[in-house]
Amino acid sequence: MIVILKKNPDQQQLDRLRSWLEERHIAIHPTVGVNQTIWGLVGDTSHLDINLIASLDIVDDVKRVQEPYKNANRKFHPADTVVKVGSTTVGGGSLTLIAGPCSVESEEQICTIAQQVKASGATMLRGGAFKPRTSPYSFQGLRNEGIRLLSIAKKVTGLPIVTEIMDASQLDCFDDVDVIQVGARNMQNFELLKVLGELRKPILLKRGLSATYEELLMSAEYIMAGGNENVILCERGVRTFETYTRNTMDVTAVPVLKQLSHLPVLVDPSHAAGKYKLVPPLAKAALAAGADGLIIEVHNDPEHALCDGPQSLRPEVFDKLAGDLRAIHELVHR
Ligand code: PEP
Ligand code: MN
Repeated sequence: MIVILKKNPDQQQLDRLRSWLEERHIAIHPTVGVNQTIWGLVGDTSHLDINLIASLDIVDDVKRVQEPYKNANRKFHPADTVVKVGSTTVGGGSLTLIAGPCSVESEEQICTIAQQVKASGATMLRGGAFKPRTSPYSFQGLRNEGIRLLSIAKKVTGLPIVTEIMDASQLDCFDDVDVIQVGARNMQNFELLKVLGELRKPILLKRGLSATYEELLMSAEYIMAGGNENVILCERGVRTFETYTRNTMDVTAVPVLKQLSHLPVLVDPSHAAGKYKLVPPLAKAALAAGADGLIIEVHNDPEHALCDGPQSLRPEVFDKLAGDLRAIHELVHR
């Protein structure tokens, strides 16, 4: 961190800032210029409040030269993180295809779809049990029963299961869940992130509706700071001025996140688009940009889906898409 001091700073205030920094084990490397003095701060500056320092009368400007996230930062961990999920892996060159309905609706529904997406090459099964719906009058998910049905589909197909948690109190019924999803709306539920940091189970962390890359990485940092390094990032579209689509898929997020972090990056084109016809081209774009995989909503009867039918692919459409995705992935990693 670099602190640019104002011209002729008050000596008392300067001394106070110096001791405040030293108490925090930060070494000061001053550079005295003709017009201005600059302090280079050396040490763990991730705990310092940049705005607090900037607000001091003697300070002209403060600049971070290092990102505030450490564990998620590629600078300190150059190799790609590979997250193990059952017998499959996420990141490090493998193609992850998570597919399944938005919500678990019945045993027959989830088992049928699970078998279909498995036959198409899906590596994991998704299905919401606890659903974060905008309206309290919409279907809220089958909750514990939904997770029980996902477990049955896992037994039938052998596919690892991915499902969303909305509150730490639900954790008791996640024992058989292979990947815990933190949805866009909970990306900054820091208390929940801290609890998930105590586990060693993989966490699929979705980007918040209006979250910056740094905010997403800071949320990953919350989980990793607790010791859980099994974090998978997910771009799922952000809110923009465009209203034609549900969100705008930020394809730039993929190469940027992969540059800034060693964590695997998945893309969810279903929630980005909100329209099933847009899902195949967006999915292909995500892989072409270097994503480690996709999470895609698939439903065997989208017209009667209890949630997100309009953005769900029919199994036969997913089957064709999965083939195209494997070809693109191979090309990107050749
Ligand atoms: C979901 O995956 O079903 C979901 C609700 O996603 P998001 O949090 O990205 O809206
Ligand atoms: Mn959904």
